[in-house]
Amino acid sequence: MKKIAFFCIPAHGHTNPMLPVAAELVKRGNAVRFYSFNEFEQKILSTGAEFVSCDKYLPAITQAEEEKLKNVNTTEMTLQDIRITIGMNDFMEKEFADFHPDVVYTDSVCFWGKLNAWKHKVPMVCSTSTFAFNQLSSQYMKYSLGEMKEMIFGLPKISKELKKLKPYGYQVESTLSLLQNDNSTDTVVYTSRNLQPCAASFSDHYAFVGPSVFSDLTPNKQKERPLVYISLGTVINDRPDFYHKCIQALSNMNADVIISCGRYMDKSLLGELPANVQAFAYVDQLEVLSRADVFITHCGMNSVSESLYMAAPMILYPQTNEQRAVARRVEEKGAGLLLRDDSAKGIRKAVEKALNDSRYTVAANECCRDLRSCSGAAGAADFIENAPHTSVGVDPLVQLNRSSKRFRLCYWILAIALIILFAVLVSRNYAWIIGLAAGILAYPIGNVFQKIKFKSICKKSKRQNR
Ligand code: UDP
Repeated sequence: MKKIAFFCIPAHGHTNPMLPVAAELVKRGNAVRFYSFNEFEQKILSTGAEFVSCDKYLPAITQAEEEKLKNVNTTEMTLQDIRITIGMNDFMEKEFADFHPDVVYTDSVCFWGKLNAWKHKVPMVCSTSTFAFNQLSSQYMKYSLGEMKEMIFGLPKISKELKKLKPYGYQVESTLSLLQNDNSTDTVVYTSRNLQPCAASFSDHYAFVGPSVFSDLTPNKQKERPLVYISLGTVINDRPDFYHKCIQALSNMNADVIISCGRYMDKSLLGELPANVQAFAYVDQLEVLSRADVFITHCGMNSVSESLYMAAPMILYPQTNEQRAVARRVEEKGAGLLLRDDSAKGIRKAVEKALNDSRYTVAANECCRDLRSCSGAAGAADFIENAPHTSVGVDPLVQLNRSSKRFRLCYWILAIALIILFAVLVSRNYAWIIGLAAGILAYPIGNVFQKIKFKSICKKSKRQNR
């Protein structure tokens, strides 16, 4: 029997996949203490784990800060996470001394879980509720200019706040080390290796266990007419404008429509609903998805995994960067189509395409089989019980970074040689243009090199494993 401390941020999408894991560990006789927030108390208690409320450590925030958090502003979330960690420090000191956990299982963006595991030198396993992101897979995320500006201007604020952690005994190398797991951090990812982008770049410290869900349901699409399910998740779902367009698009269609519009929106804003449309604040999503023929989704990782688990093709309507990365992967797998035109006409067209083109259903069924062959919550529980893990393989990222360093060196030697040659043979006055071009091209060429090199490392390791 082990004592396991669970930590998570106050978000359904991050908490939900940890629950079946907690239930499994409790069933096996482990003592699970789950540090979370009152909103999740009932869900957590139903797993058999002990619930510890951390609400009083949430700092009071201004309306502007709240607005930023609602819009998943990375800088604001990082600042708040640091403040919560500091606010909880005395309480955590006492808890670690009293409970003495053998393992910490923490959401990968829950700083107070990670930082306390490091500080108290307790083996840590991270729960990653999205795809695992490293230097390769994060290229799936395309940042807008505004988001890049926000992150760059946020960096000084974050590093100032990070310094406040040191006097409390928290050691942090960089913001990135807090936000992104490296190849030596034991990490559970709730997808399959097959669905994870750039899966071969992750070491065997990563356990791809597939969706962690409480459900014995299997897909059952037998019914008189198709069912369209619409949800934008539990965070940024206050979008009456979008639900209105969906209703307008689907009201005269020979299909049933279920909308989950969230607990914060006034449902009366949707007006009188057509006979084929039903709207709820919250639904049993897995049950609805088991019957759904198409899911209009914001591409939260849980929603997408659940949709594939229930073989429901998707219309992808991502709102954040992470969601765009998830959407791109679903598109690559052929199990969904991107909603490029979100007018009523565009929505109708996309739904008709998803329903009538059987390739989407075939791909969703393939993903369903793949995800159902994963080890799920039981696999995650095995991984946590046996932490810390030692890696037996070669770290592909270390190999890749070594080659990239050599490539960069050669690239700049060649660029300097070209600048000198140009200055000597053509014109001294314009040699700077070569330098500028080399600077601009360095990043995209470096990326192409990384991709090619990574493919060759993967091929080589496959050959060696045979
Ligand atoms: N969910 C649910 N019923 C609803 C809406 C959402 O059970 O009516 C659950 C859904 O099954 C999923 C989670 O809430 O597990 C949403 O997580 P996701 O990562 O998809 O999105 P987020 O809410 O974090 O944006």
